Amino acid sequence: MQTILKSFHSVKARRYLETVKPLNTRVTKNNNFSTTTVRRVPSLSVISSSMKYGAIAAVSYGAYKMYYWRHPRVQAPMDPDKKTIVVLGSGWASTSFLKDIDTKYYNLIVISPRNYFLFTPLLPSSTVGTVDLKSIIEPIRFTSRHKTRDIKVYEAECTRIDPENKTVTIKDVPSNKVKEPERSVTYDYLVLGVGARNSTFGVQGVDRYGCFLKEAKDARKIHNRLMACVENAALPGQSPEEVKRLLHMVIVGGGATGIEYAAELHDFLIDDLRTWYPDLADKVKISLVEALPSVLPQFSQKLIKYTEGNFRKQDITIHTKTMVKEVREKELVVKTPDDSIETIPYGLLVWATGNTTTPLVNDLIQKFPEAQTHKKGLVVDDWMRLKGCEDIYAFGDATATRYAPTGQVASQQGKYLARYFKQLYIRQALEEQLKKGLGEKEKEKVEKKFERVKEIKPFHYSHHGSLW
Ligand SMILES: Cc1cc2nc3c(=O)[nH]c(=O)nc-3n(C[C@H](O)[C@H](O)[C@H](O)COP(=O)(O)OP(=O)(O)OC[C@H]3O[C@@H](n4cnc5c(N)ncnc54)[C@H](O)[C@@H]3O)c2cc1C
Repeated sequence: MQTILKSFHSVKARRYLETVKPLNTRVTKNNNFSTTTVRRVPSLSVISSSMKYGAIAAVSYGAYKMYYWRHPRVQAPMDPDKKTIVVLGSGWASTSFLKDIDTKYYNLIVISPRNYFLFTPLLPSSTVGTVDLKSIIEPIRFTSRHKTRDIKVYEAECTRIDPENKTVTIKDVPSNKVKEPERSVTYDYLVLGVGARNSTFGVQGVDRYGCFLKEAKDARKIHNRLMACVENAALPGQSPEEVKRLLHMVIVGGGATGIEYAAELHDFLIDDLRTWYPDLADKVKISLVEALPSVLPQFSQKLIKYTEGNFRKQDITIHTKTMVKEVREKELVVKTPDDSIETIPYGLLVWATGNTTTPLVNDLIQKFPEAQTHKKGLVVDDWMRLKGCEDIYAFGDATATRYAPTGQVASQQGKYLARYFKQLYIRQALEEQLKKGLGEKEKEKVEKKFERVKEIKPFHYSHHGSLW
Protein backbone atom coordinates (compact mmCIF):
# COMPACT_ATOMS: atom_id res chain seq x y z
CA MET A 1 0.00 0.00 0.00
CA GLN A 2 2.77 2.38 1.00
CA THR A 3 4.57 1.69 -2.28
CA ILE A 4 1.47 2.71 -4.18
CA LEU A 5 1.00 5.82 -2.08
CA LYS A 6 4.62 6.85 -2.53
CA SER A 7 4.04 7.12 -6.25
CA PHE A 8 1.80 10.19 -5.64
CA HIS A 9 3.87 13.32 -6.06
CA SER A 10 1.41 16.08 -6.73
CA VAL A 11 0.60 18.65 -4.07
CA LYS A 12 -3.09 17.61 -4.24
CA ALA A 13 -2.14 14.01 -3.56
CA ARG A 14 0.02 15.06 -0.63
CA ARG A 15 -2.89 17.03 0.86
CA TYR A 16 -5.21 14.10 0.34
CA LEU A 17 -2.80 11.72 1.98
CA GLU A 18 -2.43 14.13 4.91
CA THR A 19 -6.13 13.78 5.66
CA VAL A 20 -6.75 10.11 4.97
CA LYS A 21 -3.54 8.50 6.16
CA PRO A 22 -3.74 5.90 8.95
CA LEU A 23 -3.65 7.32 12.47
CA ASN A 24 0.02 6.76 13.22
CA THR A 25 1.36 7.39 9.72
CA ARG A 26 2.87 10.69 8.54
CA VAL A 27 3.97 11.82 5.08
CA THR A 28 7.39 13.45 5.26
CA LYS A 29 8.61 16.20 2.90
CA ASN A 30 10.23 13.77 0.50
CA ASN A 31 7.07 11.63 0.39
CA ASN A 32 8.39 8.96 2.71
CA PHE A 33 6.10 7.61 5.39
CA SER A 34 6.98 7.85 9.03
CA THR A 35 5.03 5.99 11.68
CA THR A 36 6.32 7.89 14.66
CA THR A 37 3.86 10.85 14.99
CA VAL A 38 0.17 10.35 15.76
CA ARG A 39 -2.18 12.99 14.23
CA ARG A 40 -5.99 13.30 14.26
CA VAL A 41 -7.77 12.87 10.84
CA PRO A 42 -9.24 15.00 9.42
CA SER A 43 -8.14 18.08 11.32
CA LEU A 44 -10.71 20.50 12.78
CA SER A 45 -9.58 23.29 10.48
CA VAL A 46 -10.32 21.09 7.43
CA ILE A 47 -13.80 20.31 8.76
CA SER A 48 -14.60 23.92 9.60
CA SER A 49 -13.39 25.26 6.25
CA SER A 50 -15.34 22.57 4.32
CA MET A 51 -18.43 23.47 6.33
CA LYS A 52 -17.90 27.15 5.60
CA TYR A 53 -17.46 26.62 1.85
CA GLY A 54 -20.28 24.07 1.84
CA ALA A 55 -22.63 26.58 3.45
CA ILE A 56 -21.58 29.34 1.02
CA ALA A 57 -22.14 26.94 -1.92
CA ALA A 58 -25.58 25.88 -0.61
CA VAL A 59 -26.72 29.49 -0.04
CA SER A 60 -25.45 30.57 -3.47
CA TYR A 61 -27.19 27.63 -5.14
CA GLY A 62 -30.42 28.43 -3.29
CA ALA A 63 -30.19 32.10 -4.26
CA TYR A 64 -29.53 31.18 -7.89
CA LYS A 65 -32.52 28.80 -7.91
CA MET A 66 -34.77 31.43 -6.37
CA TYR A 67 -33.67 33.99 -8.93
CA TYR A 68 -34.19 31.46 -11.71
CA TRP A 69 -37.72 30.54 -10.52
CA ARG A 70 -38.69 34.20 -10.34
CA HIS A 71 -37.00 35.18 -13.61
CA PRO A 72 -37.58 32.37 -16.13
CA ARG A 73 -35.61 32.54 -19.34
CA VAL A 74 -37.05 33.65 -22.68
CA GLN A 75 -38.86 30.70 -24.26
CA ALA A 76 -38.62 29.48 -27.83
CA PRO A 77 -41.85 30.08 -29.81
CA MET A 78 -44.08 27.21 -30.91
CA ASP A 79 -42.68 25.40 -33.92
CA PRO A 80 -45.17 24.92 -36.79
CA ASP A 81 -43.13 21.91 -38.02
CA LYS A 82 -43.63 20.04 -34.74
CA LYS A 83 -46.71 18.08 -33.78
CA THR A 84 -49.07 19.54 -31.18
CA ILE A 85 -50.12 17.70 -28.03
CA VAL A 86 -53.27 19.01 -26.36
CA VAL A 87 -53.34 18.13 -22.65
CA LEU A 88 -56.69 18.16 -20.87
CA GLY A 89 -56.60 18.76 -17.11
CA SER A 90 -54.13 20.10 -14.57
CA GLY A 91 -54.29 17.35 -11.95
CA TRP A 92 -51.77 14.73 -10.85
CA ALA A 93 -51.50 12.99 -14.21
CA SER A 94 -51.44 16.01 -16.53
CA THR A 95 -49.11 18.09 -14.33
CA SER A 96 -46.50 15.37 -14.00
CA PHE A 97 -46.74 14.85 -17.77
CA LEU A 98 -46.26 18.57 -18.32
CA LYS A 99 -43.28 18.74 -15.98
CA ASP A 100 -41.48 15.89 -17.72
CA ILE A 101 -42.38 16.34 -21.39
CA ASP A 102 -39.54 17.67 -23.51
CA THR A 103 -40.85 20.68 -25.44
CA LYS A 104 -37.94 20.30 -27.88
CA TYR A 105 -40.00 17.66 -29.65
CA TYR A 106 -43.61 18.94 -29.46
CA ASN A 107 -45.81 22.01 -29.18
CA LEU A 108 -48.07 21.86 -26.13
CA ILE A 109 -51.47 23.29 -25.29
CA VAL A 110 -52.96 22.78 -21.82
CA ILE A 111 -56.71 23.13 -21.32
CA SER A 112 -58.18 22.98 -17.83
CA PRO A 113 -60.96 24.79 -15.97
CA ARG A 114 -58.50 25.00 -13.07
CA ASN A 115 -55.32 26.95 -13.79
CA TYR A 116 -53.41 25.29 -10.97
CA PHE A 117 -52.34 21.90 -9.68
CA LEU A 118 -53.86 20.88 -6.34
CA PHE A 119 -51.98 18.67 -3.89
CA THR A 120 -55.02 16.62 -2.79
CA PRO A 121 -53.44 14.64 0.11
CA LEU A 122 -53.35 17.86 2.13
CA LEU A 123 -56.84 19.02 1.16
CA PRO A 124 -58.51 17.64 4.34
CA SER A 125 -55.99 19.57 6.47
CA SER A 126 -56.81 22.79 4.65
CA THR A 127 -60.49 22.58 5.69
CA VAL A 128 -59.50 22.99 9.33
CA GLY A 129 -56.73 25.53 8.76
CA THR A 130 -53.79 23.22 9.53
CA VAL A 131 -52.38 24.17 6.13
CA ASP A 132 -53.21 27.17 4.01
CA LEU A 133 -54.91 26.42 0.68
CA LYS A 134 -52.39 28.64 -1.10
CA SER A 135 -49.57 26.42 0.05
CA ILE A 136 -51.01 23.30 -1.60
CA ILE A 137 -51.56 24.70 -5.07
CA GLU A 138 -49.07 25.35 -7.86
CA PRO A 139 -50.01 27.56 -10.82
CA ILE A 140 -49.83 25.73 -14.13
CA ARG A 141 -48.33 28.84 -15.72
CA PHE A 142 -45.39 28.52 -13.34
CA THR A 143 -44.72 25.02 -14.68
CA SER A 144 -45.35 25.96 -18.30
CA ARG A 145 -43.26 29.14 -18.10
CA HIS A 146 -40.19 27.15 -17.06
CA LYS A 147 -40.22 24.92 -20.13
CA THR A 148 -37.83 25.70 -22.97
CA ARG A 149 -40.64 26.18 -25.53
CA ASP A 150 -43.73 28.33 -25.09
CA ILE A 151 -46.78 26.37 -23.89
CA LYS A 152 -50.29 27.72 -24.36
CA VAL A 153 -52.49 27.43 -21.28
CA TYR A 154 -56.25 27.94 -21.64
CA GLU A 155 -58.39 28.17 -18.52
CA ALA A 156 -61.42 26.49 -20.05
CA GLU A 157 -63.42 23.31 -19.96
CA CYS A 158 -63.30 20.82 -22.80
CA THR A 159 -66.90 20.01 -23.67
CA ARG A 160 -66.50 17.80 -26.74
CA ILE A 161 -63.88 15.73 -28.51
CA ASP A 162 -64.06 15.13 -32.23
CA PRO A 163 -61.63 12.25 -32.91
CA GLU A 164 -62.29 12.29 -36.67
CA ASN A 165 -61.30 15.91 -37.19
CA LYS A 166 -58.86 15.87 -34.29
CA THR A 167 -60.36 18.87 -32.55
CA VAL A 168 -61.64 19.63 -29.06
CA THR A 169 -64.34 22.15 -28.26
CA ILE A 170 -63.64 24.34 -25.26
CA LYS A 171 -65.82 26.62 -23.20
CA ASP A 172 -64.93 29.42 -20.85
CA VAL A 173 -65.31 28.42 -17.20
CA PRO A 174 -68.33 29.95 -15.42
CA SER A 175 -66.16 31.78 -12.88
CA ASN A 176 -64.97 34.08 -15.68
CA LYS A 177 -67.29 37.04 -15.91
CA VAL A 178 -67.52 37.56 -19.67
CA LYS A 179 -69.48 34.81 -21.40
CA GLU A 180 -67.45 33.59 -24.33
CA PRO A 181 -68.63 31.48 -27.25
CA GLU A 182 -67.34 27.92 -27.69
CA ARG A 183 -64.01 27.61 -29.50
CA SER A 184 -62.20 24.72 -31.04
CA VAL A 185 -58.58 23.63 -30.74
CA THR A 186 -56.84 21.24 -33.12
CA TYR A 187 -54.47 18.51 -31.96
CA ASP A 188 -52.14 15.89 -33.37
CA TYR A 189 -52.21 13.97 -30.09
CA LEU A 190 -54.74 14.37 -27.31
CA VAL A 191 -53.72 13.52 -23.75
CA LEU A 192 -56.70 13.24 -21.48
CA GLY A 193 -56.28 13.62 -17.70
CA VAL A 194 -59.64 15.04 -16.67
CA GLY A 195 -59.96 12.91 -13.53
CA ALA A 196 -63.34 11.91 -12.15
CA ARG A 197 -66.19 13.63 -10.34
CA ASN A 198 -67.94 12.92 -7.07
CA SER A 199 -70.51 10.20 -7.16
CA THR A 200 -73.84 10.92 -5.43
CA PHE A 201 -75.50 7.61 -6.40
CA GLY A 202 -78.53 9.68 -7.34
CA VAL A 203 -79.30 10.52 -3.68
CA GLN A 204 -81.47 13.61 -3.57
CA GLY A 205 -80.18 16.72 -1.80
CA VAL A 206 -76.47 15.82 -1.76
CA ASP A 207 -75.47 18.53 -4.25
CA ARG A 208 -77.60 21.08 -2.43
CA TYR A 209 -76.85 20.47 1.23
CA GLY A 210 -73.74 18.30 1.36
CA CYS A 211 -70.08 19.25 0.90
CA PHE A 212 -67.74 17.32 -1.36
CA LEU A 213 -64.00 17.12 -0.73
CA LYS A 214 -62.25 17.19 -4.08
CA GLU A 215 -61.41 20.72 -5.12
CA ALA A 216 -60.05 23.83 -3.40
CA LYS A 217 -63.51 25.42 -3.44
CA ASP A 218 -64.89 22.37 -1.56
CA ALA A 219 -62.32 22.82 1.19
CA ARG A 220 -63.25 26.50 1.51
CA LYS A 221 -66.96 25.60 1.68
CA ILE A 222 -66.37 22.98 4.40
CA HIS A 223 -64.26 25.40 6.41
CA ASN A 224 -66.96 28.10 6.26
CA ARG A 225 -69.75 25.65 7.19
CA LEU A 226 -67.73 24.17 10.01
CA MET A 227 -67.00 27.54 11.56
CA ALA A 228 -70.61 28.67 11.04
CA CYS A 229 -71.83 25.59 12.94
CA VAL A 230 -69.47 26.22 15.84
CA GLU A 231 -70.22 29.96 16.04
CA ASN A 232 -73.98 29.34 15.80
CA ALA A 233 -73.78 26.79 18.58
CA ALA A 234 -71.99 29.38 20.72
CA LEU A 235 -74.83 31.93 20.37
CA PRO A 236 -76.85 32.66 23.51
CA GLY A 237 -80.32 31.16 23.76
CA GLN A 238 -79.69 28.19 21.44
CA SER A 239 -81.76 25.19 22.49
CA PRO A 240 -79.78 22.09 23.58
CA GLU A 241 -81.24 20.14 20.58
CA GLU A 242 -80.06 22.81 18.14
CA VAL A 243 -76.58 22.88 19.71
CA LYS A 244 -76.48 19.07 19.45
CA ARG A 245 -77.47 19.22 15.78
CA LEU A 246 -75.03 22.00 14.90
CA LEU A 247 -72.17 20.15 16.53
CA HIS A 248 -72.95 16.84 14.86
CA MET A 249 -70.50 16.40 11.96
CA VAL A 250 -71.41 13.56 9.60
CA ILE A 251 -69.15 12.03 6.98
CA VAL A 252 -70.74 9.74 4.41
CA GLY A 253 -68.36 7.20 2.85
CA GLY A 254 -65.94 4.89 4.64
CA GLY A 255 -63.24 4.88 1.96
CA ALA A 256 -59.78 6.38 2.38
CA THR A 257 -60.97 9.99 1.95
CA GLY A 258 -63.88 9.64 4.42
CA ILE A 259 -61.71 7.96 7.07
CA GLU A 260 -58.92 10.47 6.65
CA TYR A 261 -61.35 13.33 6.94
CA ALA A 262 -63.08 11.96 10.06
CA ALA A 263 -59.67 11.69 11.78
CA GLU A 264 -58.64 15.19 10.68
CA LEU A 265 -61.93 16.65 11.89
CA HIS A 266 -61.55 14.86 15.23
CA ASP A 267 -58.07 16.32 15.80
CA PHE A 268 -59.33 19.79 15.05
CA LEU A 269 -62.68 19.72 16.86
CA ILE A 270 -61.63 17.82 19.93
CA ASP A 271 -58.06 19.00 20.41
CA ASP A 272 -57.88 22.54 18.95
CA LEU A 273 -61.44 23.59 19.67
CA ARG A 274 -61.01 22.86 23.37
CA THR A 275 -58.71 25.89 23.68
CA TRP A 276 -60.95 28.36 21.86
CA TYR A 277 -64.45 27.05 22.64
CA PRO A 278 -64.02 25.22 25.96
CA ASP A 279 -67.81 25.07 26.57
CA LEU A 280 -68.50 23.37 23.23
CA ALA A 281 -65.66 20.91 22.79
CA ASP A 282 -67.32 18.13 24.78
CA LYS A 283 -70.58 18.49 22.85
CA VAL A 284 -69.03 17.82 19.44
CA LYS A 285 -69.93 14.48 17.86
CA ILE A 286 -68.50 12.90 14.71
CA SER A 287 -70.28 10.09 12.84
CA LEU A 288 -69.26 8.14 9.78
CA VAL A 289 -71.93 6.48 7.63
CA GLU A 290 -71.03 3.58 5.32
CA ALA A 291 -73.36 1.43 3.22
CA LEU A 292 -71.04 -1.61 3.19
CA PRO A 293 -70.45 -3.99 6.14
CA SER A 294 -67.07 -2.41 6.95
CA VAL A 295 -65.03 0.72 6.33
CA LEU A 296 -61.97 0.70 4.04
CA PRO A 297 -63.19 -2.36 2.10
CA GLN A 298 -60.20 -2.25 -0.28
CA PHE A 299 -57.67 -2.54 2.56
CA SER A 300 -56.50 -5.46 4.74
CA GLN A 301 -58.51 -6.76 7.72
CA LYS A 302 -55.69 -5.69 10.03
CA LEU A 303 -55.97 -2.06 8.92
CA ILE A 304 -59.78 -2.16 9.11
CA LYS A 305 -59.65 -3.48 12.72
CA TYR A 306 -57.03 -0.89 13.64
CA THR A 307 -59.11 1.96 12.19
CA GLU A 308 -62.32 0.80 13.84
CA GLY A 309 -60.57 0.39 17.21
CA ASN A 310 -58.98 3.82 16.98
CA PHE A 311 -62.25 5.49 16.01
CA ARG A 312 -63.96 3.82 18.96
CA LYS A 313 -61.30 5.23 21.30
CA GLN A 314 -61.75 8.68 19.78
CA ASP A 315 -65.53 8.51 20.11
CA ILE A 316 -66.16 8.61 16.37
CA THR A 317 -69.30 6.57 15.70
CA ILE A 318 -69.24 4.29 12.66
CA HIS A 319 -72.62 3.30 11.19
CA THR A 320 -71.96 0.44 8.76
CA LYS A 321 -74.64 -1.19 6.55
CA THR A 322 -76.43 2.14 6.69
CA MET A 323 -77.65 3.60 3.43
CA VAL A 324 -78.39 7.29 2.92
CA LYS A 325 -81.74 7.65 1.13
CA GLU A 326 -82.11 11.42 1.15
CA VAL A 327 -80.26 14.50 2.33
CA ARG A 328 -82.38 17.29 3.80
CA GLU A 329 -81.22 20.71 4.92
CA LYS A 330 -80.71 19.70 8.54
CA GLU A 331 -81.03 15.91 8.58
CA LEU A 332 -80.17 12.74 6.71
CA VAL A 333 -82.72 10.05 5.97
CA VAL A 334 -81.07 6.64 6.29
CA LYS A 335 -81.99 2.99 6.01
CA THR A 336 -80.47 1.14 8.98
CA PRO A 337 -79.17 -2.48 8.97
CA ASP A 338 -82.56 -3.71 10.23
CA ASP A 339 -84.27 -2.01 7.25
CA SER A 340 -85.95 0.70 9.29
CA ILE A 341 -85.91 4.33 8.14
CA GLU A 342 -84.39 6.87 10.51
CA THR A 343 -83.32 10.50 10.43
CA ILE A 344 -79.94 11.79 11.62
CA PRO A 345 -79.77 15.55 12.36
CA TYR A 346 -76.46 17.14 11.32
CA GLY A 347 -74.66 20.47 11.25
CA LEU A 348 -72.00 19.64 8.64
CA LEU A 349 -72.27 16.88 6.05
CA VAL A 350 -69.20 15.79 4.09
CA TRP A 351 -69.98 13.47 1.18
CA ALA A 352 -67.04 11.22 0.29
CA THR A 353 -68.55 8.18 -1.38
CA GLY A 354 -66.14 7.82 -4.28
CA ASN A 355 -65.93 8.81 -7.90
CA THR A 356 -67.76 8.46 -11.16
CA THR A 357 -66.92 9.41 -14.74
CA THR A 358 -67.12 13.01 -16.00
CA PRO A 359 -69.59 13.95 -18.79
CA LEU A 360 -66.65 14.37 -21.20
CA VAL A 361 -65.47 10.82 -20.52
CA ASN A 362 -69.01 9.45 -20.86
CA ASP A 363 -69.33 11.19 -24.21
CA LEU A 364 -66.04 9.69 -25.42
CA ILE A 365 -67.03 6.19 -24.24
CA GLN A 366 -70.20 6.44 -26.31
CA LYS A 367 -68.19 7.34 -29.41
CA PHE A 368 -66.40 3.97 -29.34
CA PRO A 369 -69.03 1.50 -28.08
CA GLU A 370 -67.13 -1.60 -29.26
CA ALA A 371 -63.77 -0.81 -27.65
CA GLN A 372 -64.94 1.24 -24.69
CA THR A 373 -66.80 -1.35 -22.68
CA HIS A 374 -66.09 -0.21 -19.13
CA LYS A 375 -68.55 1.98 -17.24
CA LYS A 376 -66.02 3.19 -14.67
CA GLY A 377 -63.68 4.96 -17.05
CA LEU A 378 -61.80 4.95 -20.32
CA VAL A 379 -60.19 1.70 -21.43
CA VAL A 380 -56.54 2.14 -22.37
CA ASP A 381 -53.75 -0.29 -23.18
CA ASP A 382 -50.44 -0.54 -21.27
CA TRP A 383 -49.09 2.40 -23.29
CA MET A 384 -52.11 4.52 -22.26
CA ARG A 385 -53.49 4.60 -25.79
CA LEU A 386 -57.24 4.85 -25.86
CA LYS A 387 -58.74 1.61 -27.14
CA GLY A 388 -60.61 2.18 -30.39
CA CYS A 389 -58.93 5.44 -31.28
CA GLU A 390 -55.45 6.33 -32.38
CA ASP A 391 -53.80 9.54 -31.21
CA ILE A 392 -55.82 9.81 -28.00
CA TYR A 393 -54.13 8.90 -24.72
CA ALA A 394 -55.69 8.85 -21.26
CA PHE A 395 -54.38 8.43 -17.72
CA GLY A 396 -55.22 8.95 -14.06
CA ASP A 397 -58.70 8.71 -12.54
CA ALA A 398 -60.36 9.15 -15.95
CA THR A 399 -59.32 5.61 -16.88
CA ALA A 400 -60.44 2.17 -15.76
CA THR A 401 -57.25 0.17 -15.21
CA ARG A 402 -56.02 -2.48 -12.80
CA TYR A 403 -54.47 0.29 -10.68
CA ALA A 404 -56.14 2.13 -7.81
CA PRO A 405 -57.35 5.66 -8.58
CA THR A 406 -54.60 7.46 -6.69
CA GLY A 407 -52.35 10.43 -7.22
CA GLN A 408 -49.37 8.11 -6.96
CA VAL A 409 -50.53 6.09 -9.98
CA ALA A 410 -51.56 9.19 -11.93
CA SER A 411 -48.25 10.98 -11.46
CA GLN A 412 -46.23 7.90 -12.46
CA GLN A 413 -48.41 7.56 -15.56
CA GLY A 414 -47.75 11.21 -16.40
CA LYS A 415 -44.00 10.74 -16.15
CA TYR A 416 -44.19 7.57 -18.20
CA LEU A 417 -46.21 9.20 -20.98
CA ALA A 418 -43.72 12.07 -21.22
CA ARG A 419 -40.92 9.53 -21.80
CA TYR A 420 -43.14 7.63 -24.22
CA PHE A 421 -43.67 10.71 -26.38
CA LYS A 422 -39.95 11.46 -26.49
CA GLN A 423 -39.21 7.94 -27.69
CA LEU A 424 -42.09 8.13 -30.15
CA TYR A 425 -40.65 11.31 -31.65
CA ILE A 426 -37.16 9.82 -31.98
CA ARG A 427 -38.58 6.63 -33.50
CA GLN A 428 -40.63 8.56 -36.04
CA ALA A 429 -37.66 10.81 -36.91
CA LEU A 430 -35.45 7.77 -37.52
CA GLU A 431 -38.18 6.11 -39.60
CA GLU A 432 -38.28 9.24 -41.75
CA GLN A 433 -34.51 9.14 -42.17
CA LEU A 434 -34.62 5.49 -43.19
CA LYS A 435 -37.20 6.24 -45.85
CA LYS A 436 -34.73 8.67 -47.46
CA GLY A 437 -31.98 7.19 -49.64
CA LEU A 438 -29.06 6.94 -47.19
CA GLY A 439 -25.54 5.74 -47.89
CA GLU A 440 -24.67 2.21 -46.74
CA LYS A 441 -22.70 3.29 -43.64
CA GLU A 442 -25.17 5.98 -42.64
CA LYS A 443 -28.08 3.58 -43.09
CA GLU A 444 -26.43 1.02 -40.83
CA LYS A 445 -25.89 3.66 -38.14
CA VAL A 446 -29.51 4.85 -38.30
CA GLU A 447 -30.80 1.28 -38.30
CA LYS A 448 -28.83 0.56 -35.11
CA LYS A 449 -30.33 3.62 -33.44
CA PHE A 450 -33.78 2.62 -34.66
CA GLU A 451 -33.39 -0.87 -33.16
CA ARG A 452 -32.75 0.73 -29.78
CA VAL A 453 -35.95 2.83 -29.76
CA LYS A 454 -38.23 0.58 -31.82
CA GLU A 455 -39.84 -1.11 -28.82
CA ILE A 456 -41.47 1.27 -26.37
CA LYS A 457 -41.77 -0.44 -23.00
CA PRO A 458 -45.27 -0.55 -21.45
CA PHE A 459 -46.12 1.35 -18.27
CA HIS A 460 -45.01 -0.29 -15.05
CA TYR A 461 -46.37 0.98 -11.73
CA SER A 462 -44.11 0.98 -8.71
CA HIS A 463 -45.93 1.26 -5.38
CA HIS A 464 -44.30 3.51 -2.77
CA GLY A 465 -46.74 2.92 0.11
CA SER A 466 -50.31 3.88 0.88
CA LEU A 467 -49.53 7.25 2.41
CA TRP A 468 -46.96 9.49 0.76
C1 LIG B 1 -59.10 14.54 -0.29
C2 LIG B 1 -58.28 13.66 -1.14
C3 LIG B 1 -57.12 13.08 -0.63
C4 LIG B 1 -56.34 12.25 -1.43
N1 LIG B 1 -55.20 11.71 -0.92
C5 LIG B 1 -54.40 10.94 -1.70
C6 LIG B 1 -53.17 10.42 -1.21
O1 LIG B 1 -52.81 10.63 -0.07
N2 LIG B 1 -52.44 9.66 -2.05
C7 LIG B 1 -52.81 9.42 -3.34
O2 LIG B 1 -52.10 8.74 -4.07
N3 LIG B 1 -53.97 9.88 -3.83
C8 LIG B 1 -54.77 10.65 -3.05
N4 LIG B 1 -55.95 11.13 -3.54
C9 LIG B 1 -56.39 10.74 -4.90
C10 LIG B 1 -55.78 11.63 -5.95
O3 LIG B 1 -56.01 12.98 -5.66
C11 LIG B 1 -56.39 11.30 -7.31
O4 LIG B 1 -56.24 9.95 -7.57
C12 LIG B 1 -55.69 12.14 -8.38
O5 LIG B 1 -56.04 13.48 -8.21
C13 LIG B 1 -56.06 11.69 -9.79
O6 LIG B 1 -55.32 12.48 -10.66
P1 LIG B 1 -55.89 12.90 -12.09
O7 LIG B 1 -54.84 13.73 -12.75
O8 LIG B 1 -56.39 11.73 -12.81
O9 LIG B 1 -57.18 13.79 -11.77
P2 LIG B 1 -57.28 15.13 -10.96
O10 LIG B 1 -56.11 15.34 -10.10
O11 LIG B 1 -58.63 15.11 -10.33
O12 LIG B 1 -57.25 16.24 -12.09
C14 LIG B 1 -58.25 16.36 -13.06
C15 LIG B 1 -58.02 17.65 -13.80
O13 LIG B 1 -58.86 17.70 -14.95
C16 LIG B 1 -59.52 18.95 -15.00
N5 LIG B 1 -60.75 18.76 -15.77
C17 LIG B 1 -61.90 18.21 -15.36
N6 LIG B 1 -62.81 18.22 -16.36
C18 LIG B 1 -62.19 18.79 -17.43
C19 LIG B 1 -62.60 19.10 -18.76
N7 LIG B 1 -63.83 18.83 -19.19
N8 LIG B 1 -61.72 19.69 -19.58
C20 LIG B 1 -60.47 19.98 -19.15
N9 LIG B 1 -60.03 19.71 -17.91
C21 LIG B 1 -60.88 19.13 -17.06
C22 LIG B 1 -59.69 19.32 -13.53
O14 LIG B 1 -59.93 20.70 -13.37
C23 LIG B 1 -58.37 18.89 -12.98
O15 LIG B 1 -57.41 19.87 -13.20
C24 LIG B 1 -56.74 11.97 -2.76
C25 LIG B 1 -57.92 12.55 -3.27
C26 LIG B 1 -58.66 13.38 -2.48
C27 LIG B 1 -59.91 14.01 -3.06
